[in-house]
Amino acid sequence: MVICEGKKIFRGVAIGKIKYYTKKVNTVTRKRIEDEQVEFKRYEDARERTIEQLHDLYEKAVKEVGEMNAQIFEVHAMMLEDDDYNDSVSNMICNQKVNAEYAVATTGDNFSEMFANMDDEYFKARSVDVKDVSERVITILNGNDTDSDIGNEPVIIMAEDLAPSETVLMDKDKLLAFVTEKGSSNSHTAILARTMGIPAIIGIKIDESMDGKIGIVDGNTGKFIAEPDDETFEKYNKMLQEEKNQKELLNELKGKDNVTKSGQKIKLYANIGNVSDLALVLKNDAAGIGLFRSEFLYLEKNTFPTEDEQFMVYRQVAETMAGKKVIIRTLDIGADKQADYFNLEHEENPAMGYRAIRICLTRHDIFKTQLRAILRASMFGNISVMYPMIISLDEIMQIKSIMKEVKDELRSEGIPFKDIEEGIMIETPAAAMISDILAKEVDFFSIGTNDLTQYTLAIDRQNANLDSFYNPHHEAVLRFIELVVKNAHEAGIWAGICGELGADMGLTRRFLDMGLDELSVSPGCILPIRKVIRETE
Ligand code: PEP
Ligand code: MG
Repeated sequence: MVICEGKKIFRGVAIGKIKYYTKKVNTVTRKRIEDEQVEFKRYEDARERTIEQLHDLYEKAVKEVGEMNAQIFEVHAMMLEDDDYNDSVSNMICNQKVNAEYAVATTGDNFSEMFANMDDEYFKARSVDVKDVSERVITILNGNDTDSDIGNEPVIIMAEDLAPSETVLMDKDKLLAFVTEKGSSNSHTAILARTMGIPAIIGIKIDESMDGKIGIVDGNTGKFIAEPDDETFEKYNKMLQEEKNQKELLNELKGKDNVTKSGQKIKLYANIGNVSDLALVLKNDAAGIGLFRSEFLYLEKNTFPTEDEQFMVYRQVAETMAGKKVIIRTLDIGADKQADYFNLEHEENPAMGYRAIRICLTRHDIFKTQLRAILRASMFGNISVMYPMIISLDEIMQIKSIMKEVKDELRSEGIPFKDIEEGIMIETPAAAMISDILAKEVDFFSIGTNDLTQYTLAIDRQNANLDSFYNPHHEAVLRFIELVVKNAHEAGIWAGICGELGADMGLTRRFLDMGLDELSVSPGCILPIRKVIRETE
């Protein structure tokens, strides 16, 4: 038995035969050519065929792993449209009179080295991509089409490294897990493994002699075991069976309605805090994103994210969700979420302090930048916006006035945007109590039960010593929810929950009785809640 520790990329257990995977390497030899026009035409034809293939791959990947992850193939196609790349190939063919294969291989190597030497992590990672795309052109020049045949039986792929195109082309039914020696946790292959939900580990010393032997990939701990002893095999086999049972049960529910036996429907959306959560959103069949905590954009940086930086992220989320609702919650910084560059003063009681909408309504520059980015991104999907920590009608009026200014500015600059739905979070007792008044001014309510519980019960949600007192099932909290839903419906708007309580399956029945229209929960909770809903009378 051999046990190796690597870096876990995607959780889950896989047991099966190890397949030592080596790339089909194109051997390229330098040849002198006579007619450079003919040779360049060969390159142009191969380049065009490669671009076609990449577009096909993109389409395949969109279906399997979503728009965002598929984009890498569009990036590859763009590399072949790059003037510097093409000039380099053309110069070599025309000036040095070398064959197209050699010109492409050398150009690919040069560009790959150039990317590898860059400081920026994003560009560093492109080093593999430019090699991958050059290999693809050479394969076509050699008269072959590319594929990633891994045989007929399910296997654990062991490889030095994998290119995204190899990963996508592999037959998913035959792919139990990946183990690679190279690659980073942010490489596209790692991202694809996560999206496909395949257990994966990187940083494992690979060894050709393991080919054909039985292996175990434990993506939960990053352990890879070859030739397990009986006891280890049994232990993992049991774990695998448990995982399978759970997965099968949940997969049965994919694509099914969230409907009770008597026909009552409710929407199940997902909460996300980062674009990397999108894969899970798709995998778990969320009908939309009910809470996109935009703070991460601010917390990850040392300075304010620019309008363009935010726009790119919101656009990516909207496009990935492809027409499904995406509710972006505006900046909710303060209290436990601190970013030094905001220079917020120390407060005795930060949870009740200068935070969320209070910052936005006093720092219009920050707020307007975010609203501009959200509105611009609205053209790329089905975006809504919601505002956190609201306590009064006056705040809504102030937001409306700022929103109008932002829209007027965009119009005068000729920048298009859609008229998006605007909602508020109900997470203070004040907002819940006057929800009848607030409902007349907004398009929807999303109840933030984490804060609503904290402020209703006067219990600091951060204080672990108070856990036994923090009771979100407290009748006061539940009555607030009921009141908010009633007031929303009377005003003709919808109401949902986006706090943790929405995922409390002991309350699903009660939420249905209250008439909630939506529950937004962490992606992994969607299918279990669907199960409960479907079993409810
Ligand atoms: C809430 O308060 O319930 C909520 C969803 O917001 P957050 O947890 O981000 O404060
Ligand atoms: Mg909150």
